[in-house]
Amino acid sequence: MQRPSFDELFSLLCAAPLSIAELNRLRQWIAGIHDPAECIALIEAAAAGRPCPHCGCARVHRCGCVTGLQRFRCTTCRRTFNALTGTPLARLRKRECWLPYLQCILESRTVRDAARVVGVHRTTSFRWRHRFVPAAMRHRPARLGAVVEADETHRLESQKGSRQLTRPARKRGGVARKRGITDELDCLLVARDRNGKTLDFHTGRAPITADHLHTCLSPVLANDVLLISDGAAAYPSFAAKAGITHRSVNVRAGQRVRGAIHIQNVNGWHSRFKTWLVRFKGVASRYLINYSGWQRLLDARQLLTPALWLCAAVRQIQDSCEKSAFNAHTAFFLAVFAFVR
Ligand SMILES: [Zn+2]
Repeated sequence: MQRPSFDELFSLLCAAPLSIAELNRLRQWIAGIHDPAECIALIEAAAAGRPCPHCGCARVHRCGCVTGLQRFRCTTCRRTFNALTGTPLARLRKRECWLPYLQCILESRTVRDAARVVGVHRTTSFRWRHRFVPAAMRHRPARLGAVVEADETHRLESQKGSRQLTRPARKRGGVARKRGITDELDCLLVARDRNGKTLDFHTGRAPITADHLHTCLSPVLANDVLLISDGAAAYPSFAAKAGITHRSVNVRAGQRVRGAIHIQNVNGWHSRFKTWLVRFKGVASRYLINYSGWQRLLDARQLLTPALWLCAAVRQIQDSCEKSAFNAHTAFFLAVFAFVR
C-alpha cells in the first residue's frame, strides 16, 4: 500500500471535525516532536556575527562543521571556535532534548521530573539545570534606576548533595543552633527598582555590611537614585560613602509604609522566591545564587519560551544586558520559528 503524502494527510486532518480532547492530543503530540536541527538553527542564529571568544577579533572565517555546528577560525589567533565555545553550554550533548528540557525549566520542574519528561538520566538533568540557568542568568540589568528598594533574605546554610559535611548532619532540614543572623545563615541581597528590574547577590554567611553593599550595589546604582531599605545600619553607612540619597522604614517598629517610602516590592520578591523554592525541598548553599537567578528570570517574564531561553544562554555577555530585544537577525528567526511552531 502506498503511503499517503503529507499534503493528503494534512487535508484529511483539516477536514476532520476534532473534539477538544483530540485537539489536545494533537497539540501534545506536536509539542513532543523535536528535531536537533531546530536547536542548532536557534544556536547559530543567536550567536551570529560573534567575534572570536579567545581574543575578541571580529575577523573570522568558516572552517568546516563539527557536531552539527559551524566551526570558525580566527584570523588573528588562529584558534577555532563554534557558537557555544565559552558558554556554559559548550560540550553538552543530546541537543535534540534541549528545547523540551528548557520547557521543564520554564515550568520549574524538579530534577527527577524533568529527567522523566525529557528522557535523560537524573544526573544529566541536574547538570543541565546548572548549565542552562547560569547561562541565561548572566543577562541581568546593568543598572537600576530612580527608586531602588534593597533588602536581604536569609536561608539556613545547606550542604545538600555534599559527600563531606563540615558539621554534623541535621535531621529533616533542622534549625539554626544560634538565634539571630549568624554564620549559619546564607544572606541573599536583592535590589529592585520600581520598574521591576531586579538584581540578586549572595553575600555569604554573615550579617550584611557596608562593604558588602559597596561591592554589590555601587556598580549598578546611578548616583541620582533614591535607595530605600529597612533600618539596618549598613545601608546609611554605605549610602553616605557612595553619595547616594537614602531613606529607610523602621520595619522592626512595625512601620511598613511611609508614603512612597517602603520595601514592599523587594519583600514581595522574597516571598515569591521562598514559596517557589519549596518544591525543591532544600537547595545547597553553593547553588543558591542559581536558584535566585532562575526565579529572577521567571519573575521578569522576558524569557517565556524555550527558544528565547536558549538564545539568551548562547548570546555573549557583552551583548548589552539592557537590550531587551535581540539583534534583528535573531528576532527575525525567532518570529519565523514561532510561526512555524
Ligand atoms: Zn582569536
